[in-house]
Amino acid sequence: MSLSYDTRVSMPPRSVLPDGTSVGRFPSWSPITSTLILGDREAVLVDAPHTVQRAAEVADWVEASGRDLVAMYATHGHGDHYFGFTEVARRFPRSRLLGTAGTVSLALEQASSPLWRTLFPGQIPDDIRPLEVVDGPVFDLEGHEIRFVEAGHSDIRDTTFVHVPELALVVGGDIVYNEVHVHASDSDQAQRREWTAALDRIAALNPVAVIAGHKKPGNDDGPHVVEETKAYLRDTDEACTVARSPRSLST
Ligand SMILES: [Zn+2]
Repeated sequence: MSLSYDTRVSMPPRSVLPDGTSVGRFPSWSPITSTLILGDREAVLVDAPHTVQRAAEVADWVEASGRDLVAMYATHGHGDHYFGFTEVARRFPRSRLLGTAGTVSLALEQASSPLWRTLFPGQIPDDIRPLEVVDGPVFDLEGHEIRFVEAGHSDIRDTTFVHVPELALVVGGDIVYNEVHVHASDSDQAQRREWTAALDRIAALNPVAVIAGHKKPGNDDGPHVVEETKAYLRDTDEACTVARSPRSLST
């Protein structure tokens, strides 16, 4: 009985401004990472991108693993980590769609927010399926432990990471970023201290691999990304201290 994992980075399609104009030639959303934790016959998917087409590609990738998908787990309630579950579930109707209570609550808000359909018209699944609250902090995959760890506020409230002790693997969701800009605008300095504490908790597990929720495609998943995200948050705090206005901070 062995356990392994695989990852896939999805490049989202271009988003558009409210007047319908496209934002540049390049993707204006951060690349999104999905992780597949594989048992011998079954698998658990962590996070899936928000658009129908990219989610269908994730479903193809899950199918190619030859495993039966028994659960999808959202690390937090942001739409770009769970809207795609609806699409994947068409292929794997037996799979449960899971999140912590905090994730489920934010996910409901995100599903009813007009923001996503404004930014990605015609690309968000129609009837987004609600998530179900996890039974507890440990999920059993063919006798192997997958741990769901609540980590408080990072780039949004009620974020979590996934710890697979047997693989020394952490799937960090939006707590960890890998060489892409960190979404720091929904946190104040106190919340960034909470975020830093979450990063310290990940480091304390001595992981061999740390999968960032958003990463530059092709980058490795070494644990160095934890320290790099901490440094970005420190720099953000410093910049906020000297900036005279929000605009001067972003330029
Ligand atoms: Zn995200």
